Amino acid sequence: MRFGTVMADMMTDGRPPMPDGEQRKMTSRRPGRTQARDLERYASLFSARTQDMKSSPMRDLMALTARPDVISLAGGLPDTSTFPAEDFAKLMSHLAVKATARALQYGPTEGIDEVREAIVRVMAAEGTDVDGEDVLVTTGGQQVIDLVCKTLVDPGDVVIAEAPTYPGAVPTFNAYQAELIQIEMDSDGMRIDVLEETLARLDREGRRPKFIYTIPNFQNPAGVTMSLPRRRRLVDIAHERELLVLEDNPYGLLRYEGEPLPSLYSMDGGEFVIYLGTFSKILSPGVRVGWAAAPRPVLQKMNVGKASADLCSSTLTQLFVAEYFLSGQWETYMDELRTLYRGRRDVLLDALAEHLPAEASWTQPQGGLFIWATLPDGLDTTDLLAKALSRNVAFVPGRAAFLDGRGGTSMRLNFSGVGEEQLREGVRRIGEVVHEQVDL
Ligand code: PMP
Repeated sequence: MRFGTVMADMMTDGRPPMPDGEQRKMTSRRPGRTQARDLERYASLFSARTQDMKSSPMRDLMALTARPDVISLAGGLPDTSTFPAEDFAKLMSHLAVKATARALQYGPTEGIDEVREAIVRVMAAEGTDVDGEDVLVTTGGQQVIDLVCKTLVDPGDVVIAEAPTYPGAVPTFNAYQAELIQIEMDSDGMRIDVLEETLARLDREGRRPKFIYTIPNFQNPAGVTMSLPRRRRLVDIAHERELLVLEDNPYGLLRYEGEPLPSLYSMDGGEFVIYLGTFSKILSPGVRVGWAAAPRPVLQKMNVGKASADLCSSTLTQLFVAEYFLSGQWETYMDELRTLYRGRRDVLLDALAEHLPAEASWTQPQGGLFIWATLPDGLDTTDLLAKALSRNVAFVPGRAAFLDGRGGTSMRLNFSGVGEEQLREGVRRIGEVVHEQVDL
């Protein structure tokens, strides 16, 4: 498959190219339809910020890997086929009887009360106390990243993140024209010593970062967890320097072994940590319901930013989430998910040991959905992806998680979205293309 060409085509208009016949049909049906090549006609109308807006390589890759014959270890997809169809039907018909008019109506920007109540319970299950008044319901956790940038970042402002960081946050930082500084990690998470050196350097330059973005639990993409001493130090730094931290925690409840660690939000006492949560990985990304918990002055600005973006999140799916979480069945479902994903993680770890060369290394996540594998020097996972796609297997090349071209020998592998047999077969095929490159 021509991955490079396909990616380049997709970059132009955000859509995958169509087979020739399809293209002709579209053109002949709508002769006046504009094409991506007509860009010049509109370019002078675009805002300056669009110069930094790039389509997400992740979203582009998703379009390529959606074909049923592709074994995709690329997405961060939970296995929604495990949600019982009867429970779904029961919940929906219950809503139809109880709340049709409300479900079809606008709701408050901050979210409906029952969802905020469910959020308080979900956060409590992870040991974090939160006041429902400090919560803003959002359209997925992704909207929290967007709203935090909208609220805090002017063009050229510094944002600090981990290296590697969540590939889906990179286009958001770009869209708000942030200068992203990435701090390396080890098996205990972000290197706080390097963070302190960086903050001291920025001080000397008279610059103050707008926020520090971290995914402390089973980090996406690296799969590592920030240790307790580092969490303490990070919260202390935030207090000493009055710096905001964005704690992104979609995976905290997906722990397969070891003891849970306190959230930064719970250690901070409501002063400098903005917490991002989501129902995407513990129920469904399709409901598009996430949340922020934050110091009130910050939350109020985010609320205004959200109102201008979408007025409110879907009332229909909020009611669905509330009905489900307040019924109490979710804890049993979470147990099932943890058992399923733990098994898949182990299969992926075994398959990597069997199929990757001895010089390769990878992380051993205690939870979450991802393993980060690093291949011998000289290999490039962006090139390898093109070859892997021709064998109908996909992963995320490491460069997507950096802004500065690093990550070329690494790849992110997801283990939640496909079954054990496919995981084994996918890694076997990846192993083949890796060995072909190594043996060249
Ligand atoms: N943050 C991280 C670290 C993620 O992995 C994701 C989704 N993969 C999100 C935020 C956004 O999640 P959503 O919008 O589906 O809630």
